[in-house]
Amino acid sequence: MDKRLIFEKSDDSKDNKLVNPPDIPLNSPESIIPKELLREDLPLPSLGELDVVRHYTNLSKLNFSVDTNFYPLGSCTMKYNPKVNEDIAKLKTFTHLHPYQPESYIQGALKVIYELEKLLCVLTGMARFSFQPPAGASGEFTGMMIIRAYHKLRKEKRYKVIIPDSSHGTNPATASMCGYKTVVVPSTKEGLVDIDNLRKLVDEETSAMMLTNPNTLGLFEERILDISEIVHSRGALLYYDGANFNALLGITKPSLMGFDVIHLNLHKTFSTPHGSGGPGSAGVGVKEELKEFLPVPLVDIKNGRYYLNYKLKNSIGKVKSFYGNFNVLVKAYAYILRLGEEGLKRVSKHSVLNANYLREKLKDTYKLASPNRCMHELVLSCIWQKEKGVKAGDIAKRLIDFGIHPPTMYFPLIVKEALMIEPTETESKSTLDYFIQIMKQINDEVNFSPENFKNYPLTTPVRRVDETYAARFPDIRWKKAGV
Ligand SMILES: *Cc1c(COP(=O)(O)O)cnc(C)c1O
Repeated sequence: MDKRLIFEKSDDSKDNKLVNPPDIPLNSPESIIPKELLREDLPLPSLGELDVVRHYTNLSKLNFSVDTNFYPLGSCTMKYNPKVNEDIAKLKTFTHLHPYQPESYIQGALKVIYELEKLLCVLTGMARFSFQPPAGASGEFTGMMIIRAYHKLRKEKRYKVIIPDSSHGTNPATASMCGYKTVVVPSTKEGLVDIDNLRKLVDEETSAMMLTNPNTLGLFEERILDISEIVHSRGALLYYDGANFNALLGITKPSLMGFDVIHLNLHKTFSTPHGSGGPGSAGVGVKEELKEFLPVPLVDIKNGRYYLNYKLKNSIGKVKSFYGNFNVLVKAYAYILRLGEEGLKRVSKHSVLNANYLREKLKDTYKLASPNRCMHELVLSCIWQKEKGVKAGDIAKRLIDFGIHPPTMYFPLIVKEALMIEPTETESKSTLDYFIQIMKQINDEVNFSPENFKNYPLTTPVRRVDETYAARFPDIRWKKAGV
């Protein structure tokens, strides 16, 4: 493949402009716009139409996606997104709506929101949901603002939020953004919340504990009822980061575990293509006692008509314009209806089975991060390979050469040389077997030729970039090739 940028392919000697200059007299930009606001001439490359088509078509083939290859990116739930969801979401009756249309014109859309809320209440045991937040992190923010408003109304001064050391980075970030001090509770050597330590940390100044279950090591917090008892005994609330809900659909509910406020990443568990900043949605659910705190509006029904209800006594207000990413809600709704109760249960059982299959087959080649059986994802530690000079990141890069997306790396932070693998329920046994075979082959390469790993991947147009430099000094300005 010709790896040059389109600007490098430009042939300035030819006049390939597709648009003819206008044949009416124009004011010159200088006569209308102040000089300091004028842009430089837009430096468009000069190429023939076919060259442009080939350039972009070839580039598009470099895209990696769930639709092309195995994508075991832990915590992200990169499952296959059934195309029927897209068909439904593409219906003109959904895409041609405008948020300012009167309620009487959008009864169907309101019904989708209303019915989706009812279904998620059944799955989670929560009393009500808001769908305004556009992603999980924003859902956490909404949930923690609700908890803050709850304590404030009761005139309680609580300034601490407890978070396990295995937590996703968005948890402490959320707590800080809501003005809280983060207190970290350590994990046991199995990777679960250290209960004795937790007991010492929770006090009358604790506002909430934020917890993922299964946690980011893919382990079910077996003592969740003790955790809930400890947190509630001092008047604090329990927040559920539902990013890992894929493991529990129809099997158990956050309400049964004692959670008061939750978010579900609808784009993960309920199948909307995500990644690269694609549209997401978080449903934020609360228990009965907290429903008056939700963002406005909610969708309610009166005399058989759906309406937008802005009358919530203690609402934290709005967290996003209008009603959230409505199209993601349509996809989640279609997905749930298509699978039904039994289908959703099978999703979780298969996702757990697939992860444990990988765990059993790889446990002698890569060190397991925990002796406990996993739920829907597993964490490996590449410390045996590191002793031979090959790091988790090098192994991840080598996987690219075999058409496999790298797993999540160096997370959770408490595991050295971590690879976090989430196969999801939608992968076949033959795909899993291929992955196992490649992981073993890579380990053989580590034993025989560890020095080669600094060159991997071999098959991508750009091989190794200086990631630290790229993150610290991003250069996103257009530059003329070679300048
Ligand atoms: C993905 C994820 C989040 C954040 O959700 P976004 O939708 O990416 O904002 C939070 N916690 C966990 C455990 C996650 O996996």
